[in-house]
Amino acid sequence: MKHFKLYILFYFVRHRLNRLFRSNRPSKKRIRKWKNNLNKSSFYNKNLLSYPIMNKQLFMDNFDAINTVNITKKKAFEVALKSETTRDFNPTIGDISVGLSSGTSGNKGIFLVSPKERAMWVGAILDRVIGFSFRKRKIAFFLRANNNLYESVKSKILAFHFFDIIKPMEDNITELIKIKPNILIAQPSVLNEIAKHFEKNNISLKFDKIIAVAEVLEQDQKKYFEKVFSQKIAQVYQATEGFLAHTCKEGKLHFNEDWLTIEKKYIDGKKDRFHPIITDYMRFSQPLVRYELNDIIHEGKPCKCGLKSTVIDRIEGRSDDVFTFNLNNKEIVIFPDTIRRAIISVSNEIHNYKVTLINENTITYAIEVNNGFDKKEISKKVKSALLHIFNKKNIKNVVLNEGIIEVNTMNKFKRIANESNKTF
Ligand SMILES: [Zn+2]
Repeated sequence: MKHFKLYILFYFVRHRLNRLFRSNRPSKKRIRKWKNNLNKSSFYNKNLLSYPIMNKQLFMDNFDAINTVNITKKKAFEVALKSETTRDFNPTIGDISVGLSSGTSGNKGIFLVSPKERAMWVGAILDRVIGFSFRKRKIAFFLRANNNLYESVKSKILAFHFFDIIKPMEDNITELIKIKPNILIAQPSVLNEIAKHFEKNNISLKFDKIIAVAEVLEQDQKKYFEKVFSQKIAQVYQATEGFLAHTCKEGKLHFNEDWLTIEKKYIDGKKDRFHPIITDYMRFSQPLVRYELNDIIHEGKPCKCGLKSTVIDRIEGRSDDVFTFNLNNKEIVIFPDTIRRAIISVSNEIHNYKVTLINENTITYAIEVNNGFDKKEISKKVKSALLHIFNKKNIKNVVLNEGIIEVNTMNKFKRIANESNKTF
């Protein structure tokens, strides 16, 4: 695309002005323009009045009809899968980038982005996350698979260094220390490896900014990183579905409601938890209209930073990772937070943990404790704390086996995982 960088600058300025002068809500003009584009989608052309709630399945089933750039699912998958094996990170059809979202096999999503949308995204990231500066800065970016979105920010003032997490972590960290980047972007499980390395080897490399992406950043991890790196950790909540939320100057995570409409679908009686249903006014090639994410969100209190957008207190996990049991034909549900709280209350010296539901009767758990503490003793207490949760719910037949925490940065790390429904 000609003048790509100019577009980025244009959108960056537009994002900033919108933020300064508007009420953090999409303008009428933007919504009109976006609706006009929906006419090009044969799916929405027909369903324009009903706007059904979308999920991944429905979205992928109607892929060909939804997108406005005439790309078939078959073709998109072909191109995306080929690029995964060749690790060519720039799969495109015409000028449309094709991205593959993570998911178990058979459940992968495909996302289409035009250069203009890319520029809009980069402008938003510059405005909200990286911050604009005329000083030349180096950015270290750890990714599972690169995506040409990030490559596009390369310029005289920003130099991206891409770290492929398929490579051994030690090599990556050595390279990181050599480069001395100003900004470090990585998922919490990778930040954890870097932090542990820094702590062990007494390394005190300073960054201007550290941004956690892709996985849930938990409070205790955040505190640990802030201690080791001696600075605040910012967070970006983003999915292949788009750039959803950013950290404000008060350190709170806000939905980007100036280009998103968020509907809340409550999933528990107390209305504490909801699934966000997003409509994204920055997406044109592949309109996202009332798309339900299965992330479990807890809403926070209004923030004193001045932004009116919804505050996310925390992201609990995904609905797929809720533990479910069948008791006399009644479904018993245990949310990840219940398990988290039980483990944290056992000891302050648990550095990391993992609890996996293998099947209705089998759970594995694993902990890592801080140096100098008795893992065996703490592990025993963790086991009884977990059993207590299940017993309280009358789930008696469950067996708890101790395992180990496997660090495989190729997969998203989840402390609480339900693998009982997984099909490989
Ligand atoms: Zn705020």
